Amino acid sequence: MPAVTADTLTLPRLALPPAEARIRAVRKVITAHRQTEGEGFVVRRPFPGMDLSLADPFLLLDHMGAVEYGPGEAKGAPWHPHRGFETVTYMLDGAFEHKDSTGGGGLLTEGATQWMTAGSGILHSELPPQEFVAKGGLFHGVQLWVNLPRSLKWTPPRYQDIGAGDVTLLSSHDGGALLRVIAGEFGDHKGPGVTWTPISYVHATLAPGSELTTLWPADFNALAYVLAGRGTVGPESRPVDEGQLAVFGPGDALALRAADRQDYHGRTGWEVLLIGGLPIREPIARYGPFVMNTKAEILQAFEDYQAGRLGVVEPDQVPHQTAADDALDQ
Ligand code: MN
Repeated sequence: MPAVTADTLTLPRLALPPAEARIRAVRKVITAHRQTEGEGFVVRRPFPGMDLSLADPFLLLDHMGAVEYGPGEAKGAPWHPHRGFETVTYMLDGAFEHKDSTGGGGLLTEGATQWMTAGSGILHSELPPQEFVAKGGLFHGVQLWVNLPRSLKWTPPRYQDIGAGDVTLLSSHDGGALLRVIAGEFGDHKGPGVTWTPISYVHATLAPGSELTTLWPADFNALAYVLAGRGTVGPESRPVDEGQLAVFGPGDALALRAADRQDYHGRTGWEVLLIGGLPIREPIARYGPFVMNTKAEILQAFEDYQAGRLGVVEPDQVPHQTAADDALDQ
């Protein structure tokens, strides 16, 4: 199930772009590769793997599920550090429990987003809650990494918990698509997420055969990732299926069309994430959970982590501690 549903006929509608708007052509379509993360759960990862300058200001996109876990099967990412960027976790089905070395934490459930600015550094764990592990169930989520510019890499850690009910809901010009604006601007509307780096983050559900044509900031890059279903994008109607990412070229507007038939089980729409932002265009040095500007800063991050300067996990949290160092391989 898409995280939040609504009757699109009652929602504010996006205006169609003016006739002179340039619809962005598709630069490339990338099929996500599969990767094992944390305690051993499989993600689909469209990037990194491509030319990262195309994704700038984004660093990584992990698509978790959709997967039907049996009892005892659900997994997550135990204690590990981050520095120099933001992790944005959007949950569609199931739940994640979050804890961090500052004592913060919370439960992330269907339709909610957690925006964590790691900034100068933090340790955290992201795990399905015990009750969910025990019972099993449908699990589906996305984690996006947003880079921070050099001037903000040392900003103190910060959270935004964006509840399912906080998301800005809109519809396309004819009501055929439901749009959930999680962060940034979309048309004349704004999402609840406050971002250090200007970005837009939208989850769209297009009814079979419907079209979404919308303005998109010309100075942002533009990516469309398919969570489920299939359709076509761009003026050239390029097909994109589940697990594929379309990277758009320059222009002012995006055009998407859902296929007339959506064959996947139990769903009726085409589920697409639209993401874009203002490129940072700075050198990137990355290793595992650290993303800085220079190799020296990466070495410093390792030293700081090992010295406990990114935070220390309390003794009662130790059951999850063993994977902290494994996470450095991520
Ligand atoms: Mn993490």
